[in-house]
Amino acid sequence: MKLYILAIFTFIFSTNQLSAQSNPEQITAIICGKLIDGKSGKARNNAVILVAGERIIEVGDKELISPDYQLIDLSDYTVLPGMIDAHTHPLIYGDDYQTNHLKGTSAYNALHGLKVVQNWLNEGWTTIRIAGDADVNYAHFEIRDAINEGLFKGPRIFGAGHYLSITGGGGDINYISNEQSIITDGLIVDGKEEMIKTVRKEIKNGSDWIKLLVTGAFMSAGDNPQNVHFSDEEISTAVEEANRRNIPVMAHAHATKGINQAIKLGARSIEHGTFLDDESIRLFLEYDAYLIPTIYIGEYALETFDADGPQAKNVEITKKYRDASREGYKKAIKAGVKVGVGSDNVGFPPNFAANEFGQLVDLGMSPMEAIKAGTIVNAELLQKEQDLGSIEVGKLADIIATKGNPLQDISELTRVKFVMKGGELIKLEE
Ligand SMILES: [Zn+2]
Repeated sequence: MKLYILAIFTFIFSTNQLSAQSNPEQITAIICGKLIDGKSGKARNNAVILVAGERIIEVGDKELISPDYQLIDLSDYTVLPGMIDAHTHPLIYGDDYQTNHLKGTSAYNALHGLKVVQNWLNEGWTTIRIAGDADVNYAHFEIRDAINEGLFKGPRIFGAGHYLSITGGGGDINYISNEQSIITDGLIVDGKEEMIKTVRKEIKNGSDWIKLLVTGAFMSAGDNPQNVHFSDEEISTAVEEANRRNIPVMAHAHATKGINQAIKLGARSIEHGTFLDDESIRLFLEYDAYLIPTIYIGEYALETFDADGPQAKNVEITKKYRDASREGYKKAIKAGVKVGVGSDNVGFPPNFAANEFGQLVDLGMSPMEAIKAGTIVNAELLQKEQDLGSIEVGKLADIIATKGNPLQDISELTRVKFVMKGGELIKLEE
């Protein structure tokens, strides 16, 4: 059935290089000008990738090509693994996002979010992790399921149902009169018993990550990112409940104490990590935790957000702490902390997220290391490295290409010209 669907898609997307195929077991040969496979330290010239069904069956040179194969000629392109964004919120949009989710029904949020993730796929993001989202009815998991069922094209989706927050924290709405009862964008959790119940409910409703707002946040009104919100007991309860079901915890943490406490209590990844210190770096390495620093969104906020608008608090504190946080990230990268690409994309322009690569290069990564941060490192974070993150035999054929060489100009990744997901051609541009 899957092969039959592939044949139909291939027919729909037939181009000069691609002719309609009648044989569902057709092998496609992708000719690569340069290949960055996500594993090796340097690019390889004139490689050929063979794809059958949804997987890569061979990687070699031109001798692999047979006249029976369908050809995709990318000899003018640099070919890479599909990009993985480890921190996204497809359902969030607008500056006043904390109440925007109430304007549309869950059905509208799903339709809107589907369009958003399709745009991301088109830019080369073949996999995303959702860091909790704003729809009370888990519309983003309906999007994921519909994509997995083959109803729509879209990226592979993993992630958390909601961000879990204390009363008055970053997932609460702190600027509405206390006479109003309002559905918050995050789920409010106070104390051990509520944490057990909420984590179980998140898992029941499809979460394969649990997201905790361990500290205050930049974007939400009325809380302070320098404060730690959850107690040790609440964090370890979340980790224990989740881990018992083989589900990891991602911890939003700005404050130093919150970062360090979340790592020690078992969070697999720290999101933002703004005020990390030397002790945090030591803990990242000791506990093998990942850092998803979401750097470019701060630059974007300073460039584009209205300093007096709904994101005034965000702009002010981003400006204040920008330089110190960049120093911390530099140190973490230098020390060998596992750093992944995460954009915190909340409905910004589709190619917004790939600017994160340039930020990582500015902070000390080589372009090759930055590419790995957005491919194989994130695949390992997701524990999906057997299927994703590199161009190797046996892996899913999630493949992208750029016209120029991103090792020379990392911004090429904001101009992805070719996208294939699981052997299905999504886009091919000159
Ligand atoms: Zn976020």
